Amino acid sequence: MILPKTNRLTPEQLAEITAIVGEFGCKIQPIVGAVRTIYAIVGDERDDLMINRLEGLEYVDRIDRIQSPFKLMDKRSDLATGRLTLGGVTLGQDLFVIAGQCTIDPKNPNYFYETAQAVKEAGAQMLRGGVWKPRTNPYTFQGDTKSLDILMEASRRTGLPVDTEVMEEEHIKLALDAGVTLLQVGARNALNYSLLRAIGRAVATRTDRAVLLKRSLHMGALNEFISAAEYIAAFGNPNIVLCPRGTSPTLDGYRNHPDESITPLLKEKTWAAVVVDPSHSVGKASYVPACSLAAIAYGADGLCIEAHVSPSHGIGDDPKQAVTPEVLKEIITQSRQLWAIRHAGKLGHG
Ligand code: PEP
Ligand code: MN
Repeated sequence: MILPKTNRLTPEQLAEITAIVGEFGCKIQPIVGAVRTIYAIVGDERDDLMINRLEGLEYVDRIDRIQSPFKLMDKRSDLATGRLTLGGVTLGQDLFVIAGQCTIDPKNPNYFYETAQAVKEAGAQMLRGGVWKPRTNPYTFQGDTKSLDILMEASRRTGLPVDTEVMEEEHIKLALDAGVTLLQVGARNALNYSLLRAIGRAVATRTDRAVLLKRSLHMGALNEFISAAEYIAAFGNPNIVLCPRGTSPTLDGYRNHPDESITPLLKEKTWAAVVVDPSHSVGKASYVPACSLAAIAYGADGLCIEAHVSPSHGIGDDPKQAVTPEVLKEIITQSRQLWAIRHAGKLGHG
């Protein structure tokens, strides 16, 4: 829908927009109102070049798109009926919890093995552990490929499938070959289209694998988040989970601006499951329970929580952000209660 700056277009302007949309196989249908006229684009209006050319006209105020720019991730796509099962949980049917350390310490693997066992006992169905870490400071610990063996050993010991962040094509291959189930795209890479494409290609035929796509620190419009997922899905594997994790600028006192309230908006546009990361949203262990429960209240399908058997002995985010297994257990118990309330109620967001 084209909304001009003036109440109606001149015949010359109408001819110009008709010619532009004609190049893309579309037509213009004026909708004449008492005061102003707006102009519907009839045909497939998803071509960005056509929209950009129209938006570039100085007499056009804005274009409202009716069709979704994402074909596969859209709620109305054929993929909408598919359900993803991870760690024995069909997302959307039961609460799904990923938990574990921000970062695996390759010098102290026993902490990770103990954390793995403890998060399993607390009720998590998937284990997280950072092998390669995106660090703001280039001189802090950047992760270590050796930790991949520790991650997989913990998976064998507990029987839990694992999630880890990949930042480069080489990591994708190493992680898939090792048996990582959920490849995490971090907030800093959520708009790295070449990485998104590489992941999409790598998991194209690996339908036993899935991708956890974090929301970027600087992501604005919802479409930007869903379109990033579309990059991955376009190669053929729709096993994608969206993960809000707080954005910048921060809410003073929290690490980021907690964005768990985004879930109902996402669910209106896409069928993808939403698993919220409260740990990076708030950045401090004592705030994580509240953010977790808020996320479930807002309709999240699950949580991705940093947890450690002894946070003060952790590295990366763990000393300040990780909750203990006892707190994790309580978060999961209360989240399940809230989940049950949400599903039993009649408020329309089960
Ligand atoms: C993490 O999960 O440890 C992490 C670095 O997350 P994010 O990309 O959301 O900052
Ligand atoms: Mn972290």
